[in-house]
Amino acid sequence: MTAAILNGRTMSAELKVELREEVQRYEQKHGHAPGLVIVRVEGDAASGFYSKAILKIAREIGVEARLDLLPEQTTAEELHTALVRLNRDDRVHGIIVQMPLPTHLSQDLVANTIAPEKDIDGISPISAGNLCLGLPSFQPSTAAAVMEILERGNIQLEGKHVVVLGRSNVVGKPLALLLLQKNATVTICHSRTPDLASFTRQADVLVAAVGRATMVKAEMVRPGATVIDVGINALPEGGMVGDVDYTAVQEIAGAITPVPGGVGPLTNALLLKQCIAAAWQQAEKRAQT
Ligand code: NDP
Repeated sequence: MTAAILNGRTMSAELKVELREEVQRYEQKHGHAPGLVIVRVEGDAASGFYSKAILKIAREIGVEARLDLLPEQTTAEELHTALVRLNRDDRVHGIIVQMPLPTHLSQDLVANTIAPEKDIDGISPISAGNLCLGLPSFQPSTAAAVMEILERGNIQLEGKHVVVLGRSNVVGKPLALLLLQKNATVTICHSRTPDLASFTRQADVLVAAVGRATMVKAEMVRPGATVIDVGINALPEGGMVGDVDYTAVQEIAGAITPVPGGVGPLTNALLLKQCIAAAWQQAEKRAQT
């Protein structure tokens, strides 16, 4: 058996068409497009690539987006001031701060300063708390992208055993909570889990978000299982692979995401989806006051 491919590029293209229509609906009602600002403190070359990718999708779907580039020596106070200014700007509905930050700036400062209603990547303690309580909240975009793939791929979750490899605050942990909301039975594994394969072989759906090239081998996968590969691992010889040994695992899985072309293409589209949702919510709130 060869697995069905859960194609993130196709799904992302479908989602972008839907988002474009949603932006047009918003514009017709409010006379302006949803607004997104990406804040990037200079220093990390790779995060420049991510900003460009997000701006490109924003342009494609009609969200008004800009990049605020701050110099590497920006102080914590200056970053705080810049974020507070964006919090107060009614035309800005979503704010993202590109990680990693230079070492003298903390992620906590960002998470605690971005207004929760503009926190479209779900990094604030309030977003995380709401997610934990099962209340409406913005979600970390990679976790949201995994859920989008499962939904668009018609993968049943209710009553299924989902094993998540990885417990980071940006992927594994929020994803486990989202899966619980869909009534899956969730097991979270991490670097201290002994005999990983004894857990992964029980999975109806296996999600790998570890950051170790091709560590999930075919013998770790139950025949017919759905395998979602979040991992992005650069190879020394160039190119990238996921956390799953794709060639071997696709022979045994029921459905699988490729790397590249799986979770990655959907992640930024999900950010934009949450930015549009933030714009609607802020407009409704303003109308009530
Ligand atoms: P982190 O490094 O923050 O977390 C990795 C997790 O994997 C940790 O919980 C760690 O356990 C666990 N882990 C590490 N080694 C093992 C092992 N041998 N066995 C079991 N568990 C292990 O990474 P992220 O969550 O940020 O990202 C995970 C992967 O997803 C990376 O490859 C990253 O590049 C990719 N990624 C992809 C995105 C996309 O858009 N497709 C976006 C974000 C990330 P412990 O907690 O015990 O240390």
